[in-house]
Amino acid sequence: MSGIYIHIPYCKQACHYCDFHFSTSMKTKHEMINSIVQEIEMRASEFSKNIDSIYIGGGTPSVMTNFELEAIFIALEKKISIGKIKEITIEINPEDLLSEKLDFYKKIGINRLSIGIQSMNNDVLKWMNRIHDKNQVVKGLNNTRDIGFENVSLDFIYGTPKGLARDYKSELLEILQFNPTHLSCYHLTIEDGTYFGHLAKKKKLNQIEEDVSEEEFIWISEKLKSKNYRHYEISNFAIKGKESFHNSNYWNQSTYIGLGPGAHSFQNSKRRWNISNNRLYIKNIQSGVPYFEEETLTPYNLINEKIMLGLRTLNGFDKNHLLSLVNPAIKAEFESKLNALLLEEVIVSKNNVISMRPEKWLLSEYVSRELFILNE
Ligand code: SF4
Repeated sequence: MSGIYIHIPYCKQACHYCDFHFSTSMKTKHEMINSIVQEIEMRASEFSKNIDSIYIGGGTPSVMTNFELEAIFIALEKKISIGKIKEITIEINPEDLLSEKLDFYKKIGINRLSIGIQSMNNDVLKWMNRIHDKNQVVKGLNNTRDIGFENVSLDFIYGTPKGLARDYKSELLEILQFNPTHLSCYHLTIEDGTYFGHLAKKKKLNQIEEDVSEEEFIWISEKLKSKNYRHYEISNFAIKGKESFHNSNYWNQSTYIGLGPGAHSFQNSKRRWNISNNRLYIKNIQSGVPYFEEETLTPYNLINEKIMLGLRTLNGFDKNHLLSLVNPAIKAEFESKLNALLLEEVIVSKNNVISMRPEKWLLSEYVSRELFILNE
């Protein structure tokens, strides 16, 4: 199966932790929508019959007017049958969860909302420079329920510094009262180029200790599992059957087509990424000059990616399939690394499927690097 991702690169204000591609100036928004429509038309031949998901992300897609969103849907509808797509998600911020907007989303076929809650504590929201407050979350989630959206994913950030005097446990329990079908719980990461990155460089930001991170991760995982959520990817939890098709396509190395500035695509072993610059993206699309770069992944790049993605998910990776793709010398070395990690009780092997031990999931990047195959 395959998916389409559309990147809307605007936000009303910059959250202090965020390193996604976005601009807080909306001056180019109208031209941007026209350019994305143009990209949809130019790349229509890449849309296969097997598209099962559309994901509109950003940035903050809910800054689009209904008219702008409709323009994108009209362009898509000319090439694919929107009504047959299993999962159509839009990311939306709590302050935009207004009945009129939600009604329109439902009318045009959006059947899944991904809502950036992040915290239920107003001081924490302010500290992160989120634009919304808790009151807007509560009102917005009630609107969502009243309009009849059944498939709702909520984003939550944990792993924040201790000094915030935050009770992440009670915040999560509060969020659960709204019965989301899906939760994405992310550990706060401090990225270069963000305000928090700047504070960290100046040693003005306390960071959480590793053992506290692990404790929070395990508490969240256990609590959500006890409430019937499957912990199916390091940061993602779903009621059975409500796992995200779109993200699962990424993790399975299926085809995805990314439209809009900064969006990535992957098909036939080729990775392609659009320019992460709004004005340049618009200019190049309009004047017909290249607006993206691309590379072809080598067979070993693909294997390493399979290892990394597999270790992020509950499904892990199939050891025998992977070993059938490499030469005997690499095979022996890979098996010996696997055995060492099994002895250290970091990974598990069941019917030749290798996966992380759930309580060690935060180490998956390190384990992937250990297992990467360097020979070409
Ligand atoms: S976290 Fe979301 S709303 Fe905040 S700046 Fe990043 S993309 Fe925008």
